[in-house]
Amino acid sequence: MVIVMKPDANQEQIHHVLQRVEERGLEAILLRGEKRNVIAAIGDQREIPTDYWLAAPGVERIIPILSRYKLASREMQPVATGVRLNGELVGEKRVAVIAGPCTVEDLEQTLHIARAVKAAGALALRGGAYKPRTSPYSFQGLQQEGLEILAEVRRLTGLPVVTEVLSPEHVEIVARHADVLQVGARNMQNVALLKTLGEAGRPVLLKRGMAATVEELLLAAEYILKSGNPHVMLCLRGIRTFEDHTRFTLSLATVPHLKQLTHLPVLVDPSHATGISSLVPPMCKAAVACGADGLLVEVHPDPEKALVDGPQSLTLQEFDRLMTELAPVAQAVGRTI
Ligand code: PEP
Ligand code: MN
Repeated sequence: MVIVMKPDANQEQIHHVLQRVEERGLEAILLRGEKRNVIAAIGDQREIPTDYWLAAPGVERIIPILSRYKLASREMQPVATGVRLNGELVGEKRVAVIAGPCTVEDLEQTLHIARAVKAAGALALRGGAYKPRTSPYSFQGLQQEGLEILAEVRRLTGLPVVTEVLSPEHVEIVARHADVLQVGARNMQNVALLKTLGEAGRPVLLKRGMAATVEELLLAAEYILKSGNPHVMLCLRGIRTFEDHTRFTLSLATVPHLKQLTHLPVLVDPSHATGISSLVPPMCKAAVACGADGLLVEVHPDPEKALVDGPQSLTLQEFDRLMTELAPVAQAVGRTI
């Protein structure tokens, strides 16, 4: 059950409701939203009439939640949650385009990419420092040095930085250097990592596991929300099927489906989903057309020489053209880029 507080409910009223929830032997989780606060009460409530909570000052309404993921569900929060990034709320009107190299290679190149994607209209820079490579013999990323490069590029360009965190012990250092912490597909069900992200104090971009169901994705998001971090964005990056003409299979029907189930923003990563750069622009347009709140796009000044994921990376010119072509698609569905 969720107790929705009135928009003008004060701290004292919120505290009072939290106390009453705990007095009844339930777990109380306060979720602070941009527009209002809600309190999730978790546990067996069969003995407690709904009216019981309505008498408390500051309470607006009570919503019973039937789905397994409670905090992530639309039932709990019918209005979309906007996650703050670079002065915008991801999940609202502007489609958030986050672009950058698969992996940070050096300062000069990262700065060059950041300036180009910023000029083309990207909202944030994405670059890998810790890379979850399939093979232990592949390049593992510049790690801490990569984080330092990203932080320096942010300082020089003003573009916020999105980068992946692989393990709970790295959450603190990654959160110190980056604006958004990405959880990769291979880590979607790393429960220890998800729980630690509650304390990161930074928004999280949670990618769907390549063999995870939609419910499993939402339950993974639930771990982060339950551990106290309400700033979660979901990202679809393709799932594994029998199909082998693309790297993974991008199910775009999952975008509107997820938007019906959850209030969290839904982003799409056509680069990892297709693995082929010529397929990235059309799938970006399709994603925006079907309601995606943002895109993750891999770019590289010289894809042939990229250390990681060259075949799926757009050149800087291709990215610029994509942004121009996306504008009318966004406009057609009532969004901006
Ligand atoms: C990435 O975004 O760099 C990445 C490794 O993607 P995924 O986790 O979706 O495979
Ligand atoms: Mn990549």
